[in-house]
Amino acid sequence: MINNALKRILVTDFDGTLCRNEFYQLVRDRLLSPETENFWNDFVSGRTSHLGVLQSYFSAIRSEEAEVLALLDDMALEPRFAELATALQQHGWSLVIASAGCGWYIERLLATSEIPYTLHTNPGRWEGGERGLVMEPPYDSPYYCPEHGINKAAIVADFVKSGAMTAFAGDGLTDVAAAKLVSEHLRFARGDCAEALAREGLPFRSFERWSEVAEALLKLDG
Ligand SMILES: [Mg+2]
Repeated sequence: MINNALKRILVTDFDGTLCRNEFYQLVRDRLLSPETENFWNDFVSGRTSHLGVLQSYFSAIRSEEAEVLALLDDMALEPRFAELATALQQHGWSLVIASAGCGWYIERLLATSEIPYTLHTNPGRWEGGERGLVMEPPYDSPYYCPEHGINKAAIVADFVKSGAMTAFAGDGLTDVAAAKLVSEHLRFARGDCAEALAREGLPFRSFERWSEVAEALLKLDG
């Protein structure tokens, strides 16, 4: 268990939450040929995991590394990220990024900011050629799970158990279980995550941009 009594923790998803767009979607739309197999069908039919689908798409990349890096600008990282993350820190919030995506692009996107953060995700490396971007499961993480690589709900559960004031923000189906674990005034959702919570009649705070999440947390102090 994490010892964070009285601390404030914002656990946030990355693709579609801290960034407007999703890396895997940009890869599919911009880099892969239309003939590339639809790996989501394997996921929908239960033949492979969420992690396996992303691994398949990333390893199908045959572009040069520079072309892949050029996609990162189009992920639209929250433009006020550095300013708002700094303000959150000054109000006692620690930033924890939990992503079923890949550290290869998350670390590159955040490399220019000086903001301290903890990252739980799947590690990756560029190999190119016939292997593309290689994403590995985080076998040595205490939060490893075969389906998504990282079990976001287990991360949130540890902070909640520790007594920390824990907020969560996410947009996808991989975020729903984690979102359910936090208090409703600290539960931020958009997209599929918001729809899933609404279907279950669970309250949440909707957002369109990550800046709205940060501003709402900053307002808690009045
Ligand atoms: Mg997401």
